[in-house]
Formats: sequence, C-alpha cells, structure tokens
Amino acid sequence: MYFPKLFRKKMDSCPICKSKDVMRLKNHEDFPLSTIFWCPNCEYGFCNPMPDTTKLKQYYQSSYRNNDSFSEAVAISRLTRAHAQLQFIEETLGQQTKDTVFLDIGCGIGAVIHLLEKKGYYAFGVDEDPLAIDWGKKNLTTNIGHEVPPDFRKPDILLFSHVIEHFPDITAALKKWKRTRYLFIEVPHANKDVALSKPPVSHVHFFTPQSLCYVLEAAGLHIRAMNTYGIPMTDYLANTLSKQKHEYFGDIRPAGDGTVIRLIAEWK
Ligand SMILES: [Zn+2]
Repeated sequence: MYFPKLFRKKMDSCPICKSKDVMRLKNHEDFPLSTIFWCPNCEYGFCNPMPDTTKLKQYYQSSYRNNDSFSEAVAISRLTRAHAQLQFIEETLGQQTKDTVFLDIGCGIGAVIHLLEKKGYYAFGVDEDPLAIDWGKKNLTTNIGHEVPPDFRKPDILLFSHVIEHFPDITAALKKWKRTRYLFIEVPHANKDVALSKPPVSHVHFFTPQSLCYVLEAAGLHIRAMNTYGIPMTDYLANTLSKQKHEYFGDIRPAGDGTVIRLIAEWK
C-alpha cells in the first residue's frame, strides 16, 4: 500500500550535525518518495524526506509483514538474540531483583518477554504488527499486545530492540519514557556501504556507534555501556530463507553486515 502523504519536508543538511556535506546514496526501496542520504561528518544515514510519525502506524499495520511469515526458525533466531540481550543487561546492570519491571517496545513475537517470564520477571511487550503478536501469543507468551495494559506497573527497564531505527523522531519517541530509569537499545550497525547495499526494511536511520551516541546524548540520555556484536547467521537466514533448510546454523556474520550496536542508557 502506498501513502503519498507519509512524508515530511525534504532536508538539505544532516539532521544531527547540520552539515551540508551530505551524500545521496540511493532511493529508499520501502518509501519510494524518499532517498537515503549519508553524512560523513557524523557517520549517519537518514531517509530524506522522513516519513510522518502519525502516518507510519498505518504503514506498519498494513504493509510491514505482508510478505513475511513467522516460523520456528524465526523464533529460534529471536530467542538466541533475546538471550544475548538479557545477558548484556545483566552484565551491565547486575542481576535484577524479581520485582524489576520490563517493558519491551516493538517486541515482535515476544521472544524477550518469553525469556523474562521464565526467569520470573514482570514483563510485557507491545508491537504494532498484528501478525507478530498473533504468532507470539500462540507460541511464546500471552504477555504481549498492541497496547500497554492500563494496570501495568511503571517499568524499570525499557527495551527497544531493532525499533528506534524506524522512528522518524527518536527524541520525541524516547522522551515519553522519561520516568523509566534504564533503556536497553539495540540497532543494526551500519556504515555507508551497509546503508547503500542493504534492503532498508523500513529503516529511516542508519547508525554507527558514533552517530547513535550523538542522537541519544542529544535526547538527554547518558550511555552507560555500549558494544557491537555479530548476530548469528540464523537471524539472517530465518529472515530471508525461513522456509528452506540451511547448513550455516550458528555462524557469525561478517562485521558491517550483520553486526548490531547494543547499549544501556539512562536519563541524565
Ligand atoms: Zn551529520
């Protein structure tokens, strides 16, 4: 489905550092009226013009997963990633007490929530994608949905796993959660070549650790810990070849194409 009014005004400079020295990379495959630009000054790729936040919801509800389906292979890759993410949280913030409340924004099928529940935590996940929620509810956890339940306790740790690269206005999206102490964030680790070559799958930002720091610091966050990690080959294969058998199970993808930036931030 095509939304001609999805887009805001075209930018002639980098939205992060305001440099005019930005390079036009290629047309954005998912947003045909936009182009992906790269700013060499702050190492940041961006969709230009940016989609309008209010219209994006319709886009995700109608188009995002139309040609995709969930499977056991997808679930295994998501659970593998979720396990590594929880390990990173525990290594950074220490073992949490059982009354720690987790909220996963953009939870997909709910892999993280499933693991948190198994560990005995109070956790809920929200996602716009009806297919992901349906699949997750049938197979992994009932504590996911389109909205946060009205009686849900104030979260201590918010998770944004492969989510903020979809938000046109990251600052506005994160500031809604100013009362939450810790934010776990994971995004794909991009560079100019990755932004140029990879199908964008609706991403409107392409970050290196440097540009991600700029954006989060400008939003009022302090980065407590940050690292880059290779994600298992299974994730790539589950996304692209989910119906085929494959022999690369568990391999690590090469840097620059298949690495992620993983971090914990707190409000300054
Ligand atoms: Zn810049």
